[in-house]
Amino acid sequence: MTESGSWRDAAFDTRAIHAGQEADPTTGAVITPIYQTSTFVQEAVGVHKGYEYGRTDNPTRSALQGLVASLEEGQWALAYASGLAASQNLSYLLAPGDHVMLSDDAYGGTYRLFAKIVGRYGIEIEQVDLTDLDAIRAALRPSTKFVWVETPTNPYLKIVDIAGVAGVVADHPALLVVDNTFASPYLQRPLTLGADLVIHSTTKYLGGHSDVVGGMVIGNDAAIHDDLKFHQNAAGAVPGPFDCWLTMRGIKTLGVRMDRHGSNAMAVARFLQEQEAVERVYYPGLPDHPGHEIAARQMSGFSGMVSFTLRGGYEAAAAVAASTRVFALAESLGGVESLIEHPGVMTHASVAGTKGEVEPNLLRLSVGIEGERDLVDDLRQALRAAVPAAVAR
Ligand SMILES: *Cc1c(COP(=O)(O)O)cnc(C)c1O
Repeated sequence: MTESGSWRDAAFDTRAIHAGQEADPTTGAVITPIYQTSTFVQEAVGVHKGYEYGRTDNPTRSALQGLVASLEEGQWALAYASGLAASQNLSYLLAPGDHVMLSDDAYGGTYRLFAKIVGRYGIEIEQVDLTDLDAIRAALRPSTKFVWVETPTNPYLKIVDIAGVAGVVADHPALLVVDNTFASPYLQRPLTLGADLVIHSTTKYLGGHSDVVGGMVIGNDAAIHDDLKFHQNAAGAVPGPFDCWLTMRGIKTLGVRMDRHGSNAMAVARFLQEQEAVERVYYPGLPDHPGHEIAARQMSGFSGMVSFTLRGGYEAAAAVAASTRVFALAESLGGVESLIEHPGVMTHASVAGTKGEVEPNLLRLSVGIEGERDLVDDLRQALRAAVPAAVAR
């Protein structure tokens, strides 16, 4: 178990810098060292300082776990080699005959893991529109083990009412798992809204600099912690100490980054809304977004992801994606630099032909923290270059 310790009552931004990260007891180093070691010396057989072998535990990993547990207001956190390694570890809680309810707009890799791998082991995977509480009620079975929520969802940025779903599953043994990758704990803390477990791809906003791949699970239940920890140690999907250290360094600036991601994304969304070449803009910060009210209630900001469709179909979308200069054409999200991608061909190719299939004229932006005007100007020139018929205002 990890401890958030003496920083419990401190502000989020203070905890982001200090929680879990006491000065090194042997040297006084202010920054938690990268304990690049696979093993730890024992004073006598079985007598050690809590660390035996690097797969089981590492002090740099422990510091990251204490930090993220504090930010998500959980009792414990476990760090993994990737977001999907974290999801895979959760799948070890399942047994043949179990039923998993997954968002119909889930991250493509999550869908692939459950549908193509976990599903092979006698576990039934069902995609449900989790924005519809009646649909969840109707789909719940005695065998339902997970209700796996993402909010905002990817790529349509639908908003799921976390407290509402928690209410629906309250009298049911199913665990409510919330993938909090798109919001980050700075904007949304699902455990405080009734979720049982929170999962992250720390590759995204938590790491924040597109230089590390990692995952995290956070919760309150000690028995689930021990079960996951047993399976992680047994199966080995652990992060290296340098990756943990990079993630911690990124997290120190999470609050200031999320504020800028949000203000830039709002400016970009408003700009896109006014363009004739643009058919529809998906951003939960816009008052006409169907999930806006719930987002405003359960989040303290709307994050940096914006999706939009273009008039002119796939060709127009592909041309815009190829014409931006500041927005780099790449998968992933949540870094300081702005990215653009085509979900149908890139991140969401694995959901083609399922309920989660995306429109061919859809583009997704991860709005970075560059200057707002440069981002809007870049999109304006890309729309002009790619959709000449449209007069970008
Ligand atoms: C990226 C992502 C994942 C998977 O995480 P990896 O670190 O790439 O393994 C899971 N969920 C969401 C919402 C993501 O964006």
